[in-house]
Amino acid sequence: MQFIDLKAQQARIRDAVEANLRGVLDHGRYIMGPEIKELEKRLAAYTGAAHAIGCSSGTDALLLALMALDVGPGDAVFTTPFTFVATAEVVSLLGATPVFVDIDRTTYNIDPGALEKAVLAVQASDDKRHPLPEAAGMLTPRAVMPVDLFGLPADYDAVAEVAEKHGLAVIEDAAQSFGAEYKGRKACSLGDVACTSFFPAKPLGGYGDGGMVFTGDDELEETIRSILVHGQGRDKYENVRIGMNGRLDTLQAAVLLAKFTIFPEEIELRQAVAARYAEKLTAAAPDLILPNVPEGYVSAWAQYSVLARDGAHRTELQQKLRDADIPTAVYYPKPLHLQTAFSRLGYEEGMFRASENCSQRIFSLPMHPYLEEADQDRIAEALT
Ligand SMILES: *Cc1c(COP(=O)(O)O)cnc(C)c1O
Repeated sequence: MQFIDLKAQQARIRDAVEANLRGVLDHGRYIMGPEIKELEKRLAAYTGAAHAIGCSSGTDALLLALMALDVGPGDAVFTTPFTFVATAEVVSLLGATPVFVDIDRTTYNIDPGALEKAVLAVQASDDKRHPLPEAAGMLTPRAVMPVDLFGLPADYDAVAEVAEKHGLAVIEDAAQSFGAEYKGRKACSLGDVACTSFFPAKPLGGYGDGGMVFTGDDELEETIRSILVHGQGRDKYENVRIGMNGRLDTLQAAVLLAKFTIFPEEIELRQAVAARYAEKLTAAAPDLILPNVPEGYVSAWAQYSVLARDGAHRTELQQKLRDADIPTAVYYPKPLHLQTAFSRLGYEEGMFRASENCSQRIFSLPMHPYLEEADQDRIAEALT
């Protein structure tokens, strides 16, 4: 059994992928070829965002968004510690400071109430109101990066309320949620800027690295396109700002165009797989806490993550599954505020209890559009 079965998917689209790759080999425009514009057009239409900008990875998408917003030293960017390292890494890379905010225990996404407390604490430089990074000095609250963890969007209405009140930009980390929905709107259209990843294991994955930035703001789009190519101005040899080489490869865009033709159907298939899990696991393993999808949300089901009673229970269940040749994974075993990479910020254990507790109890089961009912029966049986 595969944790994510990319072979089953490839069997469906192999001819289209090969034809698209051959097209690129024929025209030879490996950098910024026409497939990139086409992919941007299709994904913008799908998400409802006015602009889509292809780039080299989900990490670079986040970096481009922050750079375009001119985030740097002295700025506070709010995000959760229960995410992939890239979310906070790019903040530190730019010399800004990640200010961690705990998650809601039922969705694993940023807790909007805690966000407001964190913003007020930063404004007052008062760590009695909310844990703050050490020795960061006076910080200016600039942006919040909600993460749509495991494919479920954060609560953007509640986040927007706090953001508007305090003048924060909202950067949606939609690396795991392409295809998801929040109150009738698609993921990647839920913030001022949104960033997704085409890493092979993500809901819309390529055959290598890639990413995309989405925005409804014309000026921001122009800035991002400039930063994407070394801060270029009107032409290649006019440089108006410090940028990077962040382009998406034409070959990846060609692969993604083929994959996207079946993507909406795959999102439907993922809903069916998740519904079957809910039914089978409720019966087989009543002490597991299953994913909660609030009313009005659709998850892209990047992962199907469940909570065991405690760490020992998780170890026991993972072992049972391993004995039955069923792969599992833990996202994420150590929250970012306890990672060595962020030790300079002086965060301590006990500061973000929900994130810490979930990181000890959570694990993910095989999840992909082609997971068969018989396999899910085996998984449920092994968990009994
Ligand atoms: C995968 C991921 C990223 C980074 O995407 P890459 O394409 O691997 O650089 C960022 N944030 C989250 C939440 C992710 O899951």
